[in-house]
Amino acid sequence: MMQRFHSSPVLAAAGVRHGFTTRHAGSFKGAAQEGLHHLGQEAGFDPQVLCQVRQVHGTRVLALTAPARGLEEADGMTTAAPLCLAVQSADCVGLLLADGRGRVAAVHAGWRGTVAGIAQAAVQALMQLGADPAEIRAALGPSIGPCCFEVGEEVAARFAALVPEAVLRSDRPRPHVDLRIANRTLLLRAGLRPGHIDAAPPCTRCQAEHYFSYRRDGARSGQQLAFILGGTT
Ligand SMILES: [Zn+2]
Repeated sequence: MMQRFHSSPVLAAAGVRHGFTTRHAGSFKGAAQEGLHHLGQEAGFDPQVLCQVRQVHGTRVLALTAPARGLEEADGMTTAAPLCLAVQSADCVGLLLADGRGRVAAVHAGWRGTVAGIAQAAVQALMQLGADPAEIRAALGPSIGPCCFEVGEEVAARFAALVPEAVLRSDRPRPHVDLRIANRTLLLRAGLRPGHIDAAPPCTRCQAEHYFSYRRDGARSGQQLAFILGGTT
């Protein structure tokens, strides 16, 4: 049977329950979340405590103490309560963070959110809950890789101003951007330790067998889910 989700060794080492779905778990687009019950059973969470937001490529991070049903506009959530925070993506980075003491965050970081600083906003939001950045672990989910993320000069310039090494020019006619290097660098600047960042996920566009990709499949693309459980059990 095909794997429905996988986890990051960096988060698993701290005992954090979380996962990144593959297309074998189904699509988690909007209300069409047929695989949720099944996923909850397999990953060990109650779908009743699932929290989602209306993702808008911004930097707002909501601090939650009760389940949220995806009505509020935001691109990140934090909690220290026993909730399951989840973000959807097809090529954007689903970023999960945890301090190993029950404080967790889930973030949707496309290129706009990345250059706007959502990774740092999430670390700051976790610090407001009492987390120490030196203890925070982060994992980037399956997302479009530098192999496939061709961008225009305007987008390249915005990344160059923020994290120059995230812009790749080599021999290709148009610049490519590495969202992993960009987010990893921003997390390091926010105080995370290098060994606490898992930033080598598979490329969604390259791996059609396992992942949905907006660049490859267009608007009909399904979406992956990145989920993480907060609270201490
Ligand atoms: Zn690729």
